[in-house]
Parts: sequence; structure tokens; C-alpha cells
Amino acid sequence: MDRFRLIKGKDFGELPKTAGVYSFYAKNEVIYIGKAINTQSRVKNHFSQPSYRDDLFIEKVDKVGYLETGSEIEALVLEASLIKKYQPKFNVVWRDDKNYFYVAISQNEQKIPYVFITHQKNYERTEYVGPFVEGTALKKTLRFLRRAFPYYTSKKHPKNKCTWCHLGLCPGPNPDLKNYRDNIRKLVLILEGKRSAVLNSLKKEMAALSKENKFEVAAEIRDKIFNLQQVMAHAHVIESGKQNLSASSGAAALEKIIGLNKKISRIECYDISNIQGKFATGSMVVFIDGKPAKSEYKKFKIKMENEPNDIAMLKEVLGRRFLHPEWSYPEIILIDGGIAQLNIAIKVKAEKSETKNIKVISIAKGRQELFIENKKEPIPLKTLPQEIYNLVKLLDDEAHRFAIAYHKKLRKKNLLD
Ligand SMILES: [Zn+2]
Repeated sequence: MDRFRLIKGKDFGELPKTAGVYSFYAKNEVIYIGKAINTQSRVKNHFSQPSYRDDLFIEKVDKVGYLETGSEIEALVLEASLIKKYQPKFNVVWRDDKNYFYVAISQNEQKIPYVFITHQKNYERTEYVGPFVEGTALKKTLRFLRRAFPYYTSKKHPKNKCTWCHLGLCPGPNPDLKNYRDNIRKLVLILEGKRSAVLNSLKKEMAALSKENKFEVAAEIRDKIFNLQQVMAHAHVIESGKQNLSASSGAAALEKIIGLNKKISRIECYDISNIQGKFATGSMVVFIDGKPAKSEYKKFKIKMENEPNDIAMLKEVLGRRFLHPEWSYPEIILIDGGIAQLNIAIKVKAEKSETKNIKVISIAKGRQELFIENKKEPIPLKTLPQEIYNLVKLLDDEAHRFAIAYHKKLRKKNLLD
């Protein structure tokens, strides 16, 4: 089931145009696993339009494998089980644990199960399936599966019918517990990729019931089998793989939290680095409409001579950047650092009428906090809405990647000189 089929070299034409999971290898090691609605076009995309993340590894890829799944839900489920099995470097690097999703099946005091999605695996009396990479796809999948296998989402059900009951998604205030637990077991099996086991078991139940002349219940199971097959085959749960989707929803959420009364189009993110006291540089990465705009990236060699410190370097870089209206000004700049860095950036941008309305935010990684201009208290990163957290991480990672690449180049040049 989970042995990838390899294509010859990079002959992407061999890849199926259907839903599935693909794998990238470097020297026989699986370094990345992904899922797609159309495997062929998704894989081609990684190479023809590499994203910020692809840039980390795409050049190392020497082999491509795939598994056809025939449905999006199965692709989602298979991806989860294969990431767990192989732990590919570039899936793991990119998404630290709190960005993964698990389906948790917990039990209340009466040992009645309930189901929810979580980032953490630290609940008592709880079983987990996952990790899943994409929360939206997982939520959609569960919404579909909940029709076939109604479940509770919290410890205690009210005495009367709830909203979910009326939608047929909840087992109701007094379900047949044996039946309910059995449904939950089937749900877990499906999320683990054991769809045929579930279908076979349902078919057996149906046959047994007909034998006992319990035709009504047997017909219910027949409908359930049919619905499940339909859902598994046709449900659309995967996003089309456009990386900027989450970045743009992050930008919208950021506008709100910052209190910006216009749309964010351009964001600039700065990284000052001074490796071993040599080659002090500032780098600027730019995102336009949620996508990295690489042609706009800039590097600044720090000019100041004596003992440069972080704050002074940032001041120099921003001062020089603001002399360039032709690059067009951003709505937001993100810098690396705490309150001191935030304050110096605010001071520099306030000196010019064209830049004074730019909003400044800064990310203090040591303390895992985000400082926002005009907000007294920093926001702990872990309490940020997920889409903002993702966006800030994305910007910050990209700035570092760019800075490090430049440093390597400088060092090499220095050696050659
Ligand atoms: Zn209910």
C-alpha cells in the first residue's frame, strides 16, 4: 500500500493527473512528502514555480515517487500516515509540532468518546490519529465523515437535542452506546487509511441483519455504505496547493490586529546579521499580496565603522531604505528584535512624511513575543491567531534564509579575494 512508485528521472509526464501523495528523494532518503488533487501538476509546480519552502530543498531532489489514491480524503489520510512513517526532513523542519493537527478521540468519565482536532497530544484518556499537515482539509474531511459516523465533540451532551443533532451529525442525548463506540472505531479506522476494512465490516453487518429479517436496519447500513463510498470518492477537501492562500488570509487578520485601515499589499521584513563580527549586513525581503517578490529583495552592506550594534545597524539600514521611494513603500515592516528595535524603527520611519504611516511590528524570538507599534503589551506568539502566526513565521524564515544565503556568498568571495 505505501511503497512509492518511482518515475524515471524527472519525466513528470509519468505522474498521474489524479489525487495522490508524492515523495521527493535526495540520495535515497525521503526528504519531503506532499499530497495533491492533481499529482502531476502539483509536482511540476514545485520545480517550475518553487515557493520559499521549495527553495530549501528542491535542488537536492534526485528522485520522485508517487502513490495514486483516487480520492482527496485518502490522499490526506495517506499523507499523514507516510509523514509519520518517514518523518521527512523538510516536512518536519518547516512545521514544528504545534503546526500539525491530530484528531483526538477522548473519553469522558462514563467512557463515552468524543472527537476533536488538536495541536497537542497531552490529554488524558485520549487516542490520537495523525499528524495531519493541513487543518482545513482535515476539518472538511471530518465534516463529511461525521455524517456517516455522528459523534460528540465535547464531554457532555445537553439533556435535549442540540444543533448538531438536528443536522444528523450528533448521536443525540441517549444513543445506543455499543453502536456509538463501534461507529467511532470505524471513524478512526478510516482516518488511519483502513477504509476497506470498514466497508467490509459494514457489508457483513448488513448481510447478518438481512438474514435476521431486520430489513430496516439493514437498509440503513446499505445507505451508509453508499454514502461513505460517495464521500470517499468525490469529496473535495484539499486546497489546490497555492502557497499564498494562507499568507493572504494572514495579511487580512494582521490588518485587523494592527488596526490598519487599508489593505496590506507590500510587507518588508528585515534581518540584520553580523556573523562572527564580520560582514555585517542587513537584508530586506518583500512579500507582495502574500507572495515573496524576490526581484524586490535588497541587501545592505553595513557602512558604519566602529563596533556596530544591532540597533545602530537597523537604524542605518532603514534610513538608507527609506531614501528609495522608487521601490515603493510598504504598509508594514517586520523586524527581528524586541522593544528597542521596534522603537528605533518607529523613530526612523517617522522622520519622513511618506514613511510615517508605515506600521512596524517586531518579533522577539527569545521571548516568543510580537511587538506591535502603539500597543503597550507584546503578544505571546502562541496566542496569535494561527494565520497570523503562520504569516509572521513565513516572513521571518524567508528573511533568515535570504540573509544566510548572502553571508555564504560574501564569505566565499572573501576567501577568493
Ligand atoms: Zn446533539
